[in-house]
Amino acid sequence: MDLYEYQGKELFRRYGLPTGEGRLAQTPAEARAAAQELGGTVVVKAQVHAGGRGKAGGVKVATSPKEAEAHATAILGMEIKGLAVRRLWIESASEIAREYYLSITLDRGAKKPLFMFTTEGGVEIEQVAARTPEALVKLHVDPLEGFHPWHGRALTFGAGIAEASERRQIERVAAQLYEVFSGCDATLCEINPLVVTKSGELVALDAKVSVDDNALFRHEEIAAMRDPEAVPVEERAAREKGVTYVKLDGEIGVLGNGAGLVMSTLDLVAAAGGRPANFCDLGGGGGAQGVVDALEVISADPQVRAIFFNVFGGITRCDEVARGILQALEQIKIAQPIVVRFDGTNAEEGRRLLAEARLENLHPEPTMLEAAKRAVELAG
Ligand code: GDP
Ligand code: MN
Repeated sequence: MDLYEYQGKELFRRYGLPTGEGRLAQTPAEARAAAQELGGTVVVKAQVHAGGRGKAGGVKVATSPKEAEAHATAILGMEIKGLAVRRLWIESASEIAREYYLSITLDRGAKKPLFMFTTEGGVEIEQVAARTPEALVKLHVDPLEGFHPWHGRALTFGAGIAEASERRQIERVAAQLYEVFSGCDATLCEINPLVVTKSGELVALDAKVSVDDNALFRHEEIAAMRDPEAVPVEERAAREKGVTYVKLDGEIGVLGNGAGLVMSTLDLVAAAGGRPANFCDLGGGGGAQGVVDALEVISADPQVRAIFFNVFGGITRCDEVARGILQALEQIKIAQPIVVRFDGTNAEEGRRLLAEARLENLHPEPTMLEAAKRAVELAG
């Protein structure tokens, strides 16, 4: 689960990290009142689950409450990377001398948290990694040993921080960020930029935190931070219907039964030259109603140009799935072509049912590979 900047900063403050003082605002009038209360120059910041807000015009400095209100009016009407801005964070402006970057991600390959630190902050970290990899300090932390002061020193000396007081502050920030990361079961904690102010103090000017969904049961107050309106409509519908649904960004909707089969179906679509738009896992049961629900969710995604339905009948019976497909086509209008591959229990019966229905947007294929190729072809 991704958190908004202001939510991430709330967690940061709990662990003692230095952040600016701020207020949440949902209307221009609230933004004005917040600026009035904070006093002095403020920054009006769009709250969306995306980076690059500054470049998109979603971060603006205001020297008066009136100007804060005007910026709020403009930013609340914006979309950033397709996400509507509905919340603003109004923060007392910091006087920036330098912008650094500090993050901890979960390195799944190494099975360890990974620190990344560079004095070339403010820009996207991928750019630093590509252009000046030597400027990026990377450091794993053994999760069983936890964070030790030497980790902090390895980061600051590695990045060539000359000033002792600055080094101490960064080392403390790194220790605190590690506490946030492990204490909140985060998969990402990123501060970009971590700034040094003109008076030499460190402030986390931005906060990007993602928390492992599987750990939310033990972080009630973080789970409560979820913004239901920020979840895409299809994902909300899927959750309501109890369908496992994951949004991707290609053009082929993928449906299968069982996580392993679905994963290999995604690989096959890629091997056939296509890109999956999303996928649904019917799980082990795959009764007719489950098929109807899943098809409804998959086909509602406007990016889907063809659907690839891949079923291996075990406990799931292919004839039952075929009935579900036919029922779905009767109940809802599905414009996209549907390629179906059945194998296993009652596969022949399932194929017969589909053939008898004589529907022109149903395309049965005998093997997974042929079905994947067909779906890619039909997606154009
Ligand atoms: P992002 O673009 O989504 O990563 O949003 P950030 O929160 O990182 O803000 C983008 C940029 O706005 C930062 O890199 C800063 O240069 C600038 N900015 C943000 N807050 C302040 C502030 O308090 N004072 C000043 N002078 N600039 C700020
Ligand atoms: Mn940022």
